[in-house]
Amino acid sequence: MTTDRTAPWFPDATVLGFPRIGPGRELKTAVESYWSGRSELDDLQADLANLRRATRDRLGRLGLPTDSGAIPSDFSAYDHVLDAATTIGAVPARFADLVGPDGAVDLPGYFAIARGEADRVPLEMTKWFDSNYHYLVPEIGPDTPIRYADDRVVREFLEAAADGATTRPVVVGPVTLLLLSKAADDGTADARATDGTATPFRPLDRLEDVLAAYADLLRALAAAGAPWVQLDEPALVADGWDVPREEVLAATERAYAALAGDLGRPERPAILLTAPYGDLGDALPVVAAAPVEAVALDLVRGPVPTAADLAALAGKVVVAGVVDGRNVWRTDLDRALEVLQEVRAGLGEDARVAVSTSSSLLHVPLDVDREQHLSKELRSWLAFADQKVGEVITLATGLAHGREAIADTLADAAEARRSRLAHPGVRRAAVRERLAALTDADLAREPYDRRAAAQAEVLDLPVLPTTTIGSFPQTSRIRRARTALRTGELDQEGYRSAMRAEIEEVVRLQERLGLDVLVHGEPERNDMVQYFAELLDGFAVTRQGWVQSYGSRCTRPSILWGDVARPGPMTVEWSTYTASLTDRPVKGMLTGPVTILAWSFVRDDQPLGDTAAQVALALREELADLEAAGIGIIQVDEPALRELLPLRRAGQAEYLEWSVRAFRLATSGVRAQTQVHTHLCYSEFGEVIDAIDGLDADVTSVEAARSRMEILPALRSHGFERQIGPGVYDIHSPRVPSQAEIVELLTAAVTAVPARQLWVNPDCGLKTRRYAETEAALTNLVAAAQEVRAGL
Ligand code: GLN
Ligand code: ZN
Repeated sequence: MTTDRTAPWFPDATVLGFPRIGPGRELKTAVESYWSGRSELDDLQADLANLRRATRDRLGRLGLPTDSGAIPSDFSAYDHVLDAATTIGAVPARFADLVGPDGAVDLPGYFAIARGEADRVPLEMTKWFDSNYHYLVPEIGPDTPIRYADDRVVREFLEAAADGATTRPVVVGPVTLLLLSKAADDGTADARATDGTATPFRPLDRLEDVLAAYADLLRALAAAGAPWVQLDEPALVADGWDVPREEVLAATERAYAALAGDLGRPERPAILLTAPYGDLGDALPVVAAAPVEAVALDLVRGPVPTAADLAALAGKVVVAGVVDGRNVWRTDLDRALEVLQEVRAGLGEDARVAVSTSSSLLHVPLDVDREQHLSKELRSWLAFADQKVGEVITLATGLAHGREAIADTLADAAEARRSRLAHPGVRRAAVRERLAALTDADLAREPYDRRAAAQAEVLDLPVLPTTTIGSFPQTSRIRRARTALRTGELDQEGYRSAMRAEIEEVVRLQERLGLDVLVHGEPERNDMVQYFAELLDGFAVTRQGWVQSYGSRCTRPSILWGDVARPGPMTVEWSTYTASLTDRPVKGMLTGPVTILAWSFVRDDQPLGDTAAQVALALREELADLEAAGIGIIQVDEPALRELLPLRRAGQAEYLEWSVRAFRLATSGVRAQTQVHTHLCYSEFGEVIDAIDGLDADVTSVEAARSRMEILPALRSHGFERQIGPGVYDIHSPRVPSQAEIVELLTAAVTAVPARQLWVNPDCGLKTRRYAETEAALTNLVAAAQEVRAGL
């Protein structure tokens, strides 16, 4: 293929995206005050425009050129997947009245789709690849209107242009958008599926319509003067779609033949096609053959392409993602520079290589310099979004002018690396020795039937025992006590007695409700991971390290930087206090090793499995202490077990191996009569059911109310022989399920699975609920259990 001489110049340095929430979480403040009626739509629009401008200015100040498309225009008022869907007018039929004559929805309509309105449920929300960002799942059916409807992308480009900045609009690519979508439940899909002639409808069947809409968007961007557009196709690095891989590749080929080939320049902007979060693998030749002008590769997670692949990419700008967009560690600049030089050499004579992040920086906090409470040394190891922009620019300088041009920065980075590797907290001999001494025998408990018999004897529970998942409502009283502790208004002792008072109320409530196994309610936990991170060695907690979780919601992940050790018991006092208040069995409550990793930033200097084992060892000690203190039931939550599953099938078996091993390491040190529970937040077991079996927990609680116990047949056919608590109460909504409804679910359960294997519990923790509905729902839950028990 000949080099496209009409391609505009691509900057030497860029980032694939930047945090959208603002340094002071301005996004949250702006949208939440609008949602609550405290501000008008005009105020909101102005706030959002200011936020976009501040981000552009920030990136300019950090050194990205403002005139060549180096600065991404990737803002979203809620979610970038919903943005792509509304850009092409793909709005579910139940929101049709919000759509204007041009096919577009306005900002209030957009929020209604994102958050629901009255009895109209919002789009479903789910995990964005293997990150902790959640996107809204578009619903696309055979009749969903699709056309270029909303010119927001163009408007935001022009808004920047008016400020003198030429940005690069970022849009989810057409293939990824369709693969992330679900078939709209409007009846037509089923009709086509059952008429015998057609296969069931899949959103990807609408590819041609979507391409036509994207082509119009690209034309409009070109007319507005955009030199570049970025189309993100992370779906190419993942498996597990409802279409076979060959079809994904064929759709990609077709999409970019249409958008980049049939539609020529200058009718459209030059296209940067990105594939963050992994290795393109067999999609690389497809991407290389596409007539796009630039391709971004994730060279943090993926390898340097082979010589043949690089040769195929020659003629395109290769945007080399060597700075990790997913983690917080300072880049090994020497290594990154080598990779860049290798890529450049492989591309041959006319090589055009730009330096970038591996993914959007959406996944990392903004600025390390705001974490002054962390030690200077730890800070010197870290790079948040601002620092990563600096690294990208440094590397671009190094690539253009040679190592010498950036010698000081390289030396500085190398020194920080050395200090990190040499730090005594990074390698603790005691932890490593204890782990090395563990054998497979330490990971096995007695056979389940013997455990079950021993537990039945000591616990003496009725059939269909009732319990909850751990947390009770986090009230404003609890939050006030936590704030008072932080501000010094309340001392440790005062806080402790406030929490004890909460616990006592929760115990009395559970006794009144007649629950069989009690919990302490987790009032002392701000967050089920951070709580443990604060008590374990090897973790640091940030003050301003906010990362967008979804919409206006942010989390502050902890940083696991060193070997993990447990200085002392973490939960024993709360659990023993709880047990002292009641004669009923009390369930201890811990967060599992995989979930602790999944919701933190984790060290990158050793395999994840090794880090998981260290966390597991600390938890193993906690379980031993709980058991010794007389706690006979201990739950180890692993809601994130499926989240960390590698995106490509090839890596999944190994992951499941070490993650199951970590859970067993944590839980296998207790005696046969101690009952180990686990909780998973979902119930589509599919690829992980063997792993769940492998956890060897005595009792597993899962979500099941919304899917009406769909998992039970799967459990039965799998031959799952241990106890299971399929949730009978959907805690995601304030709705109180009636006794009859719960009886119906339980009746389905006892028909599918022997009653002796079943527990009765809600879908998940109750921390986001209010007391009124919690009490009502649990009253019905207990009554339903009694009714079904009586009928057995
Ligand atoms: N024990 C936790 C709770 O009840 C579990 C939460 C979760 O699974 N996400 O809140
Ligand atoms: Zn849960």
